[in-house]
Amino acid sequence: MIDAAHLAENWAAVRRRVDEACLAAGRDPADVAVLPVSKTFGPDAVRAAMALGLRRFGENKVQEIRDKAAALSDVSVEWVVIGHLQTNKAKDVARLASEVQSLDRLDLADALHSRLQALGRSLDVLVQVKTAREETKSGLSPEDLPAFLERLRAYPTLRVRGLMTLATLSEDEGEVRACFRQLRELRDQCATDGHGLPRLSMGMSADFPLAIAEGATEVRIGTAIFGRRF
Ligand SMILES: *Cc1c(COP(=O)(O)O)cnc(C)c1O
Repeated sequence: MIDAAHLAENWAAVRRRVDEACLAAGRDPADVAVLPVSKTFGPDAVRAAMALGLRRFGENKVQEIRDKAAALSDVSVEWVVIGHLQTNKAKDVARLASEVQSLDRLDLADALHSRLQALGRSLDVLVQVKTAREETKSGLSPEDLPAFLERLRAYPTLRVRGLMTLATLSEDEGEVRACFRQLRELRDQCATDGHGLPRLSMGMSADFPLAIAEGATEVRIGTAIFGRRF
């Protein structure tokens, strides 16, 4: 069971650290949102977080969204998909999610679009770009981004709002920060091609101050809010 008082303390501490990182970077704290990542934690944890005023939650598995949405059908939750998505999950995503931050290929865009059209819905999406060197990290190659954004214009149900990335897992701050910097620079380059991509989702519990220094508009925080995952 989640301890509500402990959760409230964690949340306040995270928001304070985010605000401090903004001020250190000369940025307005109002320009950086926190996406609480509730993956592996149950509906009771989400409910406790909602009591603190939180409404959007990041999840990396569609099955978990299904289970939690069923247990929380009496409240209005915005589920944000942040993990690798299989195309055969598009139907559930179109039905349950308010946003997908891990859009990384055209067949997924195609599947989401047809499901969304059938439901008469649309979805905010961020394109996940691979800025880390690890082979295991998913995302679109940076050099493929401009053409990909052009192709996405064919899917009016997908409202492209920005970019998302996961940095390299490294002790070397310079290397981590280079991933975040690359995402910002890609965004700036694409803006000159007429793609407005206001949102940059980057930074997690261990590296969010660096992401904020490089221009994150949203940090995805799991462990520092909900505790360790087992
Ligand atoms: C789990 C996860 C996070 C949150 O990670 P923490 O280190 O627990 O803050 C952020 N982004 C993605 C894509 C994740 O899968």
